[in-house]
Amino acid sequence: MSSAQQLQPVLDRIDADFDNSLARLFDLLRIKSISADPAFAEDCKKAADHLARDIATLGFATEVRPTAGHPAIVAKANGGGKGRPHVLFYGHYDVQPVDPLNLWHRPPFEPAVTDHADGRKIIVARGAEDDKGQLMTFVEACRAWKSVTGSLPVDITIIIEGEEEIGSKNFVPFLEKNKAELKADFALVCDTGMWDRNTPAITTSLRGLVYEEVWIKAANRDLHSGVFGGGAQNPIRVLTKILGGLFDDNNRITIPGFYDGVKDLPPDILAQWSKLNLTAETFLKPIGLSVPAGEKDRLLIEQLSSRPTCDVNGIIGGYTGEGSKTVIPAQASAKISFRLVVGQDPDKIRKAFRDYVTARLPKDCKAEFGDHSSAPAIALDWNTKPLAAARRALTDEWGKEAILMGCGASIPIVSDFKRTLGLDTVLVGFGLDDDNIHSPNEKYDLTSFHKGIRSWARILSAFADAPKG
Ligand SMILES: [Zn+2]
Repeated sequence: MSSAQQLQPVLDRIDADFDNSLARLFDLLRIKSISADPAFAEDCKKAADHLARDIATLGFATEVRPTAGHPAIVAKANGGGKGRPHVLFYGHYDVQPVDPLNLWHRPPFEPAVTDHADGRKIIVARGAEDDKGQLMTFVEACRAWKSVTGSLPVDITIIIEGEEEIGSKNFVPFLEKNKAELKADFALVCDTGMWDRNTPAITTSLRGLVYEEVWIKAANRDLHSGVFGGGAQNPIRVLTKILGGLFDDNNRITIPGFYDGVKDLPPDILAQWSKLNLTAETFLKPIGLSVPAGEKDRLLIEQLSSRPTCDVNGIIGGYTGEGSKTVIPAQASAKISFRLVVGQDPDKIRKAFRDYVTARLPKDCKAEFGDHSSAPAIALDWNTKPLAAARRALTDEWGKEAILMGCGASIPIVSDFKRTLGLDTVLVGFGLDDDNIHSPNEKYDLTSFHKGIRSWARILSAFADAPKG
């Protein structure tokens, strides 16, 4: 029997077993696997052990492996047989801290299905979406395949880490060290979202990041503004003038060379995105805004995902305490980040920014710079067979054409997979913008969880029937 013929009974099994799937997700959500806080290290271990035990019941050879930080899970199962692809699925069991606790409507590690204000059924708990709910959609799809057919439709390696929320700094060396045994044809990451509640999506581009800090220094000490004001340079004035000049009247960034290498979207993608009709009304109104602040000649959706940005994330300087103090500070500083798109080189952008600041310094002022982080943008090939197969499967499940979309943020693991394992990634997820990830009252729509499981069941079938590569 082809995997397409086996699919319907697998989908039926998912529906029939859904209450149990939910119960298994709840078991995982009850574990307080907060990676950032050393007080929860045992809970992280518990989450890894719990998941490993569960995945082992699906016929995977499963191990919990130590890293220099929280452990990782590696699980492998043969299923496909000759000619079928081998996929590497990635997820993370760690979650963000839960504070401020008083803003939660219920305890964050006591999951429950509740009613959203608009009537949707939602799963509420820390990790409900990011990433426990999302990773369990894949695990549950594997379970249904295994229980109906006795095997999996393709070869699968599952890796689940416990430090995504704190930068994966021990996981990347773990990948390097174990790259020989993590060979696969391509990777799957379930940590992204849908276009909207009814429209599935595959994320095909991720913006990069350059994060800079700049200190402007003038006099050798803080000064009395009555004695020195008018005659002495004020670093806050210098800093704000330079930062104010970063944008022109059309909200384009003025740093020379900033847009070098930035390409327009392919016409078919631009046409698809225009039809999505993302408006200020729908996107900005919920956050109390009304007019897009990016380049005036670009669609809002372009401003958010396919165009580079600059944001001042913090300004520090002078007297900020109670009351007043007539001081001219000796220094002022700012934290500035740039979201990058494909074609921009993070090192060149960093240098261009530093040159821009330095060229605008008045006499007696100097600038010092600090480099916080950088990552290039990623654009995945729009035309691979796995992507086309996943797109068809998602369209079948949701009854609506799956969108190829850009993500304004970065998911560093995608470039790590490319660099260490040579793998391209297909990014499929069922999160929604209102899931409150990293915030109080994190939720996952019950529909996201249910149809997410069904989607993966279909995607695995589509991979099995598509030729390799
Ligand atoms: Zn997260």
